[in-house]
Amino acid sequence: IKNTTAPNLDDSINNTEEDEVDVVDLAANSLLNKLIRQSLVESSHRVEVLQKDPSSPLYSVKTFEELRLKEELLKGIYEMGFNRPSKIQEMALPMMLAHPPQNLIAQSQSGTGKTAAFVLAMLSRVNALERFPQCLCLAPTYELALQTGRVVEQMGKFCVDIHVMYAVRGNPIPRSTDITQQIIIGTPGTVLDWYFKRKLIDLTKIRVFVLDEADVMIDTQGFSDQSIRIQRALPPDCQMLLFSATFEDSVWQFAERIIPDPNVIKLRKEELTLNNIRQYYVLCGSRKDKYQALCNIYGGITIGQAIIFCQTRRNAKWLTVEMMQDGHQVSLLSGELTVDQRASIIQRFRDGKEKVLITTNVCARGIDVKQVTIVVNFDLPVNQLEEPDYETYLHRIGRTGRFGKKGLAFNMIEVDKLPLLMKIQDHFNSSIKQLDPEDMDEIE
Ligand code: ADP
Repeated sequence: IKNTTAPNLDDSINNTEEDEVDVVDLAANSLLNKLIRQSLVESSHRVEVLQKDPSSPLYSVKTFEELRLKEELLKGIYEMGFNRPSKIQEMALPMMLAHPPQNLIAQSQSGTGKTAAFVLAMLSRVNALERFPQCLCLAPTYELALQTGRVVEQMGKFCVDIHVMYAVRGNPIPRSTDITQQIIIGTPGTVLDWYFKRKLIDLTKIRVFVLDEADVMIDTQGFSDQSIRIQRALPPDCQMLLFSATFEDSVWQFAERIIPDPNVIKLRKEELTLNNIRQYYVLCGSRKDKYQALCNIYGGITIGQAIIFCQTRRNAKWLTVEMMQDGHQVSLLSGELTVDQRASIIQRFRDGKEKVLITTNVCARGIDVKQVTIVVNFDLPVNQLEEPDYETYLHRIGRTGRFGKKGLAFNMIEVDKLPLLMKIQDHFNSSIKQLDPEDMDEIE
């Protein structure tokens, strides 16, 4: 692997404006998810399959042996600690490895085994004796490309003659380099540049084309068109695979444009629910009041670990300082941190090194810290129109039905924000009880 210098990923979110409301950066969040992921994410839903040819038999596998993989590849899979295919892999792998190759669009939330599946497919289709690019994988950022590359290297640990090349900005390849690596992983811009302008890569012998993180990809200016230009340069019999964690219409439209005659696999996400959350609110006059209420709650009940959400960085910082001065062990997670720094803060929190995590919206989504029993909205989530942001509310305090441990949620509300809270209550048709912060006995 030739790349070592990591450019600053966070240009877009490196905003020092304190009042800045942290916006969700899809690529950064996706990377963060990968960095902190410890195991497969499960879903109790069934995998939905839409075959391009409904009359052809549908195979699924329960073991990796059934796939008749190369010995060295199977060894790599087991060495990674995989015992059996994940839910999505059970259906996706037989399609991806079929002869003749089939195209696939697959959607399932992050952590369900998509990357492992397409890495396996790429490794299994490479002829290690041939020294030219055979698989091309597009990723939205340099860092995400590197993460995928790591999986290739882990899984391909015993496939000693298979090599990876990163087509990413910051990987300076001298003119007229002969690219002998069989697997190219890169961002659309650089791949196009290497192909059209610099004529470094030969795309005519690519057998497997992977478009990963399609939802993040289309969110990035220019990437859809670039990806389509690349796809058009591929040979007609090239296998095309597209993966996405979400599937809004825009992703679907893009997927259908770029993947001809696809099979489609979907695994629905475990829904978030407020059913097993007891929700309370405390009326407060000022920020100081809110803080006092928080301290009372904190002193009044036994708390495992808590996440406290603030709307702005300034508020989050202020609250962190207050709590620290009062001797609490807290950590602050907000948008000015790099993804690596965020990952390490979340890891420390998971390990129980801090009991309280104060954060802005950067961390509202997708990051599950299972042992959290209390969520505090120090500020209610609102959108630019100062309307309640229902989705963010749900993401902050909702739990998945299946893994639902009981949880507690507290909303610190200035009097003038009460109508917003009532709207939230109506929207979710769930009760949010008022709490007298002097009297914690009310929490049953
Ligand atoms: P996705 O691409 O959908 O986000 P990944 O392929 O990155 O999912 O898998 C998520 C996590 O689960 C990773 O840590 C990966 O190593 C692990 N994993 C993937 N497939 C399996 C499997 N069959 N058995 C056990 N762990 C797996």
